[in-house]
Amino acid sequence: MSAYDLEKLKRKQEIIAKVKARKIDIITGPDLHCADWQIEGALRMLFNVLAPDVAKDPQNLIVYGGSGKAARNWDALEVIVETLLEMEPDETLLIQSGKPVGVFKTHDYAPRVLMANSLLVPRWATWDYFLELEQKGLIMFGQMTAGAWAYIGHQGIIQGTYETLAKAAEPFGGTLRGRFVLSAGLGEMGGAQPLAVVMNDGVGLFAEVRKEAIQRCIDHGYLMEWTEDIDEAVEMVKNAVSEKYPLSVAVLANAVDVYEELLKRGIKPDIMTDQTAAHDLLRGYYPAGISREEADKLRESDPKEYIYLAKKSVVRHVKAMTEFHKRGVIVFEYGNGIRQQAYDAGFEGAFAFEGFVKKYIRPLFCEGRGPFRYTSLVGDPEDIIELDEVIKREFKDDKILVNWVEKAQKFIAFQGLPARVCWMGYGQRAKMGKIINEMVREGKLSGPIWIGRDHLDAGSVASPTRETEGMKDGSDAVADWPILNALLNAVAGASWVAVHHGGGVGIGLSIHAGMCLVCDGRREMDKRIVTVLTTDPGLGIIRHADAGYERAIEVAKKHKVWHPMIPDTWPDNRRREIELVKKEVEKA
Ligand code: NAD
Repeated sequence: MSAYDLEKLKRKQEIIAKVKARKIDIITGPDLHCADWQIEGALRMLFNVLAPDVAKDPQNLIVYGGSGKAARNWDALEVIVETLLEMEPDETLLIQSGKPVGVFKTHDYAPRVLMANSLLVPRWATWDYFLELEQKGLIMFGQMTAGAWAYIGHQGIIQGTYETLAKAAEPFGGTLRGRFVLSAGLGEMGGAQPLAVVMNDGVGLFAEVRKEAIQRCIDHGYLMEWTEDIDEAVEMVKNAVSEKYPLSVAVLANAVDVYEELLKRGIKPDIMTDQTAAHDLLRGYYPAGISREEADKLRESDPKEYIYLAKKSVVRHVKAMTEFHKRGVIVFEYGNGIRQQAYDAGFEGAFAFEGFVKKYIRPLFCEGRGPFRYTSLVGDPEDIIELDEVIKREFKDDKILVNWVEKAQKFIAFQGLPARVCWMGYGQRAKMGKIINEMVREGKLSGPIWIGRDHLDAGSVASPTRETEGMKDGSDAVADWPILNALLNAVAGASWVAVHHGGGVGIGLSIHAGMCLVCDGRREMDKRIVTVLTTDPGLGIIRHADAGYERAIEVAKKHKVWHPMIPDTWPDNRRREIELVKKEVEKA
């Protein structure tokens, strides 16, 4: 055995020892543990989503979003890691709800990992049945990016939250200066809210039940102040609003109590939303009326009673939100399925206010604009800063993007592997991906870069109370699109691809897909990267053009994103050819 092979063997042993000791943390540096960077990228992202600085509850393999997990259990995780360490560059690993179930020889252009998480036949797609299967160890809740090994911490969602609030601020002249935003839930996604409010110059008050979640936000620089005293919180908010300085305050309390108290006092925020993990009433939501400690005990001792209390609480929760809406506050659901939960628990008026995608994000989806995330797989923050400069140079006409990168540099601390998220449109994503791969090849970056995205994107989700709420043609619940998205990205050459059920809003309410790419600098990756970063947002444009959105049709025509039923999207020569053929047929 050569000295290099011996060295590699030692590195593999170290990785396995870490998993056995349940001490997962990020892997950095230039040395490979796997056969190549395509496989190594998957290994490093798996470790990243479970890193203590990134995951919500690493010991239970929970990454974010209530109970969203990266692997079924520790045994499965151990075998996933061992398999990745031994796979060849032309093999593909299959993951079924967080458990490795097969490795096949495919070809080196194919994805190295394919994942299907939490999927159930529609008739059986209920929380009760899901929990039953989970108890038997047969399934896992993958949320969106948890089970897809693509979660990058609060920093992954922050831009979406920032942009959404910027849109919500339009009635106030595009700024939240001197405006009061009320919300709750400072978990892994929700923790981005306070910083997003401050980045928009506003004042935010956030109810959160878990002290450690509040502390984590403070430690990561996402939250400025916290208190247990609602009077003190209200006072701080009032001062900041009247003096017009940015402020974020958390109050350690149940959201229901805080909302009801503010209503009672006649205090009216300008904007209100909520990011308690209400999609999962058992593991993501704390019912009002009992303390956090009592709730944690009850969840274990009597889950049925817990859900009963949570249902009662969620009705009060949404009733309070509806009341704010009635009083003229801008209220929207922030993708946590809370309206559906309240509706299912008997509150018929739960859908009085809209969800954030319908209200603010859909026009961006019509242009194929969505989340574009990347990390330095070797862990070098300088590479991310270097890429910020590339964005400022290459996309200088896109003021929103440049402004975002400048703000991100100033405000956002890295978590886990250094990362950035940028919302980019069709064309931009492919251009940026190609530049990154070239820079890796030319040694302008210190190592390979991973590119991924949220499942919350233009063409990758069917979710009738979130991404596809109120579609123009009524196709809200048609789930063919995310499946086409995953199939297309797999054949286009993504490094790994995932299809999940239930992320964001809960079981029975969504089907969605994700894709990841490893820019390892090889020339063959140029083509794969450009192809995937074109097909992926391209399908988003097609999905919205198909539903009749004018903007999407316009963009499809302009960029010739080929939807066979929309004539002007055909490539010119092919259209001419087929018209000639049709004429000949008519003559005959
Ligand atoms: P999480 O599980 O990490 O955190 C949820 C937090 O809410 C916890 O800290 C919990 O203590 C707190 N909480 C629960 N019930 C509460 C109550 N009644 N009062 C006060 N605090 C309470 O979840 P997360 O990753 O932050 O996600 C939050 C929700 O947002 C989920 O439903 C998730 O599916 C959804 N989500 C939104 C987006 C988006 O783009 N906006 C994206 C993905 C997921």
